[in-house]
Amino acid sequence: VLNRLWDELAPLGRDPGTGGYRRYVWDRADLALREWFAGTAQELGAEVVVDRAGNQWAWWGDPDADGPGLVLGSHLDSVPDGGAYDGPLGIASAFAAVARRPPTRPLAVVSFSDEEGARFGIACAGSRLLTGALDPAVALGHRDGDGTTRADALAAAGLPEPSADPEMVARIGTFVELHVEQGRGLVDLGAPVGVASSIWPHGRWRFTFAGRADHAGTTRLRDRDDPMLAYAAAVLAAREAASRHGGVATFGKVRVEPNAVNAIPSRVTAWLDARASDEQVVQAIVRDVSQHCQVLEESWTGDTRFDTGLSSRLAGLLDNAPVLATGAGHDAGVLAQQGIPAAMLFVRNPTGVSHSPDEHAEQADCEAGVNALVRVVEAL
Ligand SMILES: [Zn+2]
Repeated sequence: VLNRLWDELAPLGRDPGTGGYRRYVWDRADLALREWFAGTAQELGAEVVVDRAGNQWAWWGDPDADGPGLVLGSHLDSVPDGGAYDGPLGIASAFAAVARRPPTRPLAVVSFSDEEGARFGIACAGSRLLTGALDPAVALGHRDGDGTTRADALAAAGLPEPSADPEMVARIGTFVELHVEQGRGLVDLGAPVGVASSIWPHGRWRFTFAGRADHAGTTRLRDRDDPMLAYAAAVLAAREAASRHGGVATFGKVRVEPNAVNAIPSRVTAWLDARASDEQVVQAIVRDVSQHCQVLEESWTGDTRFDTGLSSRLAGLLDNAPVLATGAGHDAGVLAQQGIPAAMLFVRNPTGVSHSPDEHAEQADCEAGVNALVRVVEAL
């Protein structure tokens, strides 16, 4: 089943030039993926429900009558030119597991909307809205790169404004998200599947460097007010601070105005992503980089510990699979922070590369992931 689902997903939102995936919330690829999710769920006998935050659910059984259910799943959206596995592997594997072991108690496969935040800049928007961790009024005001607000994008797609959905949250007994590993932890440990212990604290900060636009040929160096220089210094400071404090820091997105080869920029806006195993280390990195800069914190997620009882139970269930921390944020982390029992399984990634078309997982390891979920369905 996994192979067939994988073949169906392969062409959706794939850019023929880069070979990477461009699946952004409410765009054409996203709508095709939603159709795929609903069709697959119905084929497997599930009832498809969209919650008030826009996430898709495939339910077997009646969680309202028979108690909260086990929930499997992940997300289908991608970063710009993302890999095939980040997100979809968790959903396709969950469907494959259910096909193999039809549930006898309430069970769902969920597709969380807008996990990567590629379009509106906020990661895990679907799970945050669902649980009330993100204020819908704030979310509606988020703008994409074209200046379209989330409110306008939803209206254009004929969709209602989002809100928290406590009734759907109450249906979740336990959430288990399977995900391709986004590092080389399992490669080093020689294991096809692992269990997550925690997610590193992480956040996004917006830096604004203001200057004065002018002619690149006729403006003398000493007369310039060039914000690109301050930006360049911040990039180097981020690398230096991350290395000194023992974390990671990345400027991966930058906007230059007016963005012309022959013009000194008037303004540079850049986004810093910083993470570390310890909250104080992240704050120290950001403090060091943001001296003399205008900085706005756009998101912050503190240290996320998954339920240790649940994690060790899963590890035991999977023949003492290794338990490891990750530097990547996930919907499972959002749920865990809201007090919902949540756990994650990782599938080995031979190169560790993710958020790139080179992201990969071997077929045998993907099958080991499905087997792990089958055991989870049987045990939970
Ligand atoms: Zn992901």
